[in-house]
Amino acid sequence: MTWHKNSIATRIAAVAGLLLLCVQLVDAAASRRLPSLLELLRDLSLAAVMTMTVFLWVKLTVSQPLKELARALENASRGDTLRRIPVGRADEIGHIIESFNLLQARLTEIEASKIDSDMELGIAHRELELKSQLEDKNRIIEQTNLKLTERLNQLQLLYDLAAELAATLEPQQIVEILERRLVPHLGRDGYLFVSTDGQGSTLRVLSGRGVFEKAGEHGSIAGHRSLVTSSLRRRQLVNIPDLSREPIDPDTGRLAPAQGSLLSAPLLHKNTLLGAITVWRPGHQGFNNHDEQLLLSVAHLASLALVNARLYQEKLDLSVTDELTGLANRRLLGPRLELEWNRARRFETPLSVLMIDIDHFKKYNDRNGHLLGDNVLKKVADILKSTTRRVDTVARFGGEEFVILLPGQDGKTAFNIAEKLRQSVARHKFTREETQPGGKVTISVGVACFPRDADDPHELLERSDLALYASKQAGRNRTTRYRPEMKEMAEERLRQIQERRSRRRRKKFRPRRLDLIDPT
Ligand code: GH3
Ligand code: MG
Ligand code: MG
Repeated sequence: MTWHKNSIATRIAAVAGLLLLCVQLVDAAASRRLPSLLELLRDLSLAAVMTMTVFLWVKLTVSQPLKELARALENASRGDTLRRIPVGRADEIGHIIESFNLLQARLTEIEASKIDSDMELGIAHRELELKSQLEDKNRIIEQTNLKLTERLNQLQLLYDLAAELAATLEPQQIVEILERRLVPHLGRDGYLFVSTDGQGSTLRVLSGRGVFEKAGEHGSIAGHRSLVTSSLRRRQLVNIPDLSREPIDPDTGRLAPAQGSLLSAPLLHKNTLLGAITVWRPGHQGFNNHDEQLLLSVAHLASLALVNARLYQEKLDLSVTDELTGLANRRLLGPRLELEWNRARRFETPLSVLMIDIDHFKKYNDRNGHLLGDNVLKKVADILKSTTRRVDTVARFGGEEFVILLPGQDGKTAFNIAEKLRQSVARHKFTREETQPGGKVTISVGVACFPRDADDPHELLERSDLALYASKQAGRNRTTRYRPEMKEMAEERLRQIQERRSRRRRKKFRPRRLDLIDPT
């Protein structure tokens, strides 16, 4: 325990000690005698004990609690609001301590709510931060999604395109498929499809829309100069981001727009140039890497489809075309006759057939050789082809025989046409024709006509053959129309031939002895 001269306990103790001394002095004064030394010492000791006792009592009951309170207040001012002082008394000091404790409780509450709001603020802050991060991530996901959707659409386009192109061998259909599939992706503002002969020098416009709408009017264009076909010249994809900076050839410039951007891919198969696909957009740098990749893939698929179509067409041409004369062959004649027959029946229009045969052709071959014979065949085919209409079918029926289908022509008109043909052949000067009987290469013609002469296409052909036979019988170099009696004559002739044959066979049949032996 420390003794401070300024403390309350010291002062009160001193006052108490002094008071006791005073009381004793007063008491001594009242007894009118001087206290003895012993009494003085006793009084002083008493005063000292008294002072000490008061000091201790004040110290314990007042100073200590106040000191503790002061310390607690000091700590509270530094932020320690959790400290509480036990009360344990009902006097003023107890009341002060109670008030202090209440104050502390209130401060704790405020502190707690402050902590709460700080925490909430922190959480809100973090939430905001997370929200903005989430928004950023969302934006990235959306962009990625868009890109993915775009890529998916492009893949779908390639898939659909490949499937559709694989199902056609018609060049025109290939162009239509390309238009339908590619335009929504790349060529909305303008596209141009051109095909080439293989070297890329002369190009034919297959289709042009948007800014290339008028390109089709130019028909064929000089492929090596035009900007829109520069991919052909370079044999690789060309991306022109700003057309206004490109020098445009004055002759072919009309095909290339002056502004915007252009993307062009060649249609290449191995080393063969088939054409080019060009697309246009109005802004600068209108095409990115993905567009380039897409157009290249489309061009690749289109090239394959075009090559397939070309090969198929070549094969078809070969299979239905007679190699020597270039006319339709017998394979094509059958379906064509069927088609014309059905058409004639449906529209109730006539259909005539001419059966043509070169007279004494065997003799020509025998006297002049097969090579000159071939030339005669070719020339006769030319005359037949050039003297008839495009809608007529001129076919080599076999050997030196030809068939012509004349849709819409009745028997009379067909006869006149046949005569015209016959006279044209007769007028022509064939090499070494003087070796032929009559000194000329001539033809004989038989005419049959639907609906008058036949009930089915096969019959029509057969009856034109009967009429031809009649021309031959009548001396050749002439035209004969079918008449019903020709059929009877032919049947009679056939019967006679068959009879002659069976007679000959019966004569020839001399059974050997072995034939008569029964093998069993
Ligand atoms: P007809 O007036 O009765 O028709 O007498 P033809 O000699 O013309 O008739 P035939 O049927 O006896 O002979 C047809 C000849 O046509 C036989 C054959 O050598 C010839 N021939 C058939 N195809 C060809 C060919 O592709 N080239 C040549 N050079 N000759 C052919
Ligand atoms: Mg013949
Ligand atoms: Mg003949």
